[in-house]
Amino acid sequence: MRHRHPKQEDFRFVCTVCNRRFTQYTRLKLHKQSCHVVEPQFKCEICARGFKLEKRLKEHRLGVHLNQKPFKCEQCPRAFMRKPLLKRHVEGVHEGKKFKQYPRKKRRKQQKKVDIESSEEDEDTSDSHC
Ligand SMILES: [Zn+2]
Ligand SMILES: [Zn+2]
Ligand SMILES: [Zn+2]
Repeated sequence: MRHRHPKQEDFRFVCTVCNRRFTQYTRLKLHKQSCHVVEPQFKCEICARGFKLEKRLKEHRLGVHLNQKPFKCEQCPRAFMRKPLLKRHVEGVHEGKKFKQYPRKKRRKQQKKVDIESSEEDEDTSDSHC
């Protein structure tokens, strides 16, 4: 692609924080992420990772640094940090239930539920909204 100077009307995406303008939404998003990300309130004192929720920080600390997983499977040695994960494991592995992935465009309610149950990793701070 040739480097051209974008016209004024190409800058359709305005940062609501500093009024900088961008030609692409992804650029704006990146900008917000790098410039205006809200400091996470809860920081892990061991690895300095930040979390928005204290609950998440505790889970992270227990699971990652203390290797504690309070929800143990009764049928195998696996253990999980969160109850929904254990439940999913039991149902998926021991009860043979299949979990289908919902397509992205499903209704929000459902999406949210899936998000919670499938987020095996700790939420980090990179999800962006300004
Ligand atoms: Zn900005
Ligand atoms: Zn940590
Ligand atoms: Zn198990």
